[in-house]
Amino acid sequence: EEMELDGADSRAVTPGVHPESAAALPVVVIGAGMSGLLAAIRLKEAGFPFIVVEKNDGVGGTWYENTYPGARVDVGNHFYCYSFEPSDHWTEYFSRQPELQAYFQQVMERHDIERHVRWGTEVLGAVWHEDSSTWQVELDSGETISARAVISAVGQLNRPLVPDVAGTFDGPEFHTARWDHDVDLEGKRVVMIGAGATGFQVAPAIADEVGHLTILQRSAQWMFPNPNYHERVGDGVRWALRHLPFYGRWFRFLIFWPGCDTGLVAARVDHGWEHQERSVSEANEMARVIFTDWIAGQLGGRPDLIAKVVPEYPPTGKRTLQDNGSWLQTLKRPDVELVRAGVDHLCSDGVVDTDGVFHGADVVIWATGFRVNDALFPLRITGRAGVDLRQHWGNRPRAYLGMTVPGFPNFFCLYGPGTNLASGGSLIFHSECEVRYVLQCLELLAAHDLVAMEPRQDRYDDWYERSQAELADMVWSSPHIEHNFYKNDEGV
Ligand code: NAP
Repeated sequence: EEMELDGADSRAVTPGVHPESAAALPVVVIGAGMSGLLAAIRLKEAGFPFIVVEKNDGVGGTWYENTYPGARVDVGNHFYCYSFEPSDHWTEYFSRQPELQAYFQQVMERHDIERHVRWGTEVLGAVWHEDSSTWQVELDSGETISARAVISAVGQLNRPLVPDVAGTFDGPEFHTARWDHDVDLEGKRVVMIGAGATGFQVAPAIADEVGHLTILQRSAQWMFPNPNYHERVGDGVRWALRHLPFYGRWFRFLIFWPGCDTGLVAARVDHGWEHQERSVSEANEMARVIFTDWIAGQLGGRPDLIAKVVPEYPPTGKRTLQDNGSWLQTLKRPDVELVRAGVDHLCSDGVVDTDGVFHGADVVIWATGFRVNDALFPLRITGRAGVDLRQHWGNRPRAYLGMTVPGFPNFFCLYGPGTNLASGGSLIFHSECEVRYVLQCLELLAAHDLVAMEPRQDRYDDWYERSQAELADMVWSSPHIEHNFYKNDEGV
């Protein structure tokens, strides 16, 4: 299906519903990021009336908001694009943010979606009205839109997480997803707190500019070598992608396949494997050896750095990062210091880490990720009998197939609870599968003049139990990983 060698759009919607029935099922999509745009395209194809409400002034979601220096995708771009809008124009194998945002803009224009979007408007919440079987969607403009179905496309990497630490800093400070381009970093002492996927990209991009960079990294991160990470796509490859029959599809598939199910092998726990604190199976140990060799090779002659950089916990247990040398070489610079500690508190002129050491700063940058476990924060979704979805979830957001919840009829999540990528793949692929499912639900409603649809409680519980049982056997559940945004505060 993913190869689409016959040229067909295999996850397209085949309009099978009478236009009048479709017209009676208006939908609100929350968010015009990658999956909201996709939902809009498919809703349009199927003939459902819809409005997309987007808090930003432009399309792209995370690729609109994250403008920090060095921002680029770390999934091969010839796969990280819609299957029905493949791109042979990427200038790099892992494109930078401006090129990605431009891609979403072009796709939006090609499918004539913009006239359906309310820009600069935030959805505050939605209330299910039992008598009319509609969602009343409340906007920050004070307006309420009535819809038969709501699709949340807010994703998980939407609301920046800035840890609640004591003290105040007198200089400029900002989160990477809210990069303040007015702050001149030239010659400044910068303390960057956090070094996950984002911090790995920021540090090499600003190291030349700043006077001194201190990186506070609470947990070391596994990474694998990716020599193509900053490479441009050569003219020959681009020509082949454009002109050689099937080459583009094959090229895409070669990124998809190893990154998806095949990557799971090294993530599965072998309970007979000894030393679970360092690896969970033979394949996982092999990953450890390969990753460690790469790090040691890059940091030759710096045992102090190797000791800080090689994680103790099993590889692939947190999101595995990648490096073409730029991150590790940056750490070797005399004007860059990697500190393996968290943040304790802020002072007027710097940051004190969890070991009590003070780091003077002119600028503080929070590269501390997103509120992944506060699923749908800060939306207030009120379902049957006035139940608030986020209160109902508490610390354990969950959804049937990551999409639907009993008591919340005709409410669908894209990139919802339990659907994060852990071993590879692409969220665009997930979204395409999810949107197909959602559209099939809507078509079922419309085709049979049904009013509402929601998962049965027993199927929902069964899904949760089965998925939790499966996760318990994967490396991400390892008790040897202290901090992991894949898990909640209770470690599940
Ligand atoms: P992240 O991977 O969650 O990293 C956050 C960093 O902040 C970690 O070093 C974390 O330490 C630290 N941190 C969090 N809370 C802290 C606290 N209270 N005290 C001290 N340190 C704290 O976040 P991210 O780098 O923004 O990436 C999030 C996700 O965005 C990625 O997994 C990926 O899915 C996506 N992303 C993708 C790309 C790309 O495609 N190129 C780029 C950026 C982001 P611990 O590790 O100890 O928790």
